[in-house]
Amino acid sequence: MNIEAYRSILQARGCRMTPQRLAILRILSEADCHLTPIEVCQHAQGILPGITEATVYRTLTFLSEMGLLMAAHIGSGQMVYEIANHNHHHLICRKCSLTCEIGHERLQILYDQLKNLTGFQIDSMHVTLFGLCPSCQGTSSQSS
Ligand SMILES: [Zn+2]
Ligand SMILES: [Zn+2]
Repeated sequence: MNIEAYRSILQARGCRMTPQRLAILRILSEADCHLTPIEVCQHAQGILPGITEATVYRTLTFLSEMGLLMAAHIGSGQMVYEIANHNHHHLICRKCSLTCEIGHERLQILYDQLKNLTGFQIDSMHVTLFGLCPSCQGTSSQSS
């Protein structure tokens, strides 16, 4: 991760890089996947002993608003966070929780079509779609 780049993004918006913000950015760039706030908190306490869950939640929200993190709903009210470094979406299997990442370009085509149809300019850049993965389709009672 490029700490200086993050620092200047924050500075451009009149915000400072704090040890809490830095720790969370570091955790999520090293994880290279989605983490729940609880998981982030566990890692953060290893780096900054005494950091509270409330601070972690607040920092995750702040960094998402700054565009440095992406948040996603993965069902059951659960939120996950990851570093915002590429535009993508997720497919999640309802049965086995297998996740599959799809590049944004595949949805951009659909977004363009919807814009022509409705005039909406869609900016949802981290969408989660639920379904059944190929192996779970075979075990589904609805399989044909
Ligand atoms: Zn994602
Ligand atoms: Zn599955």
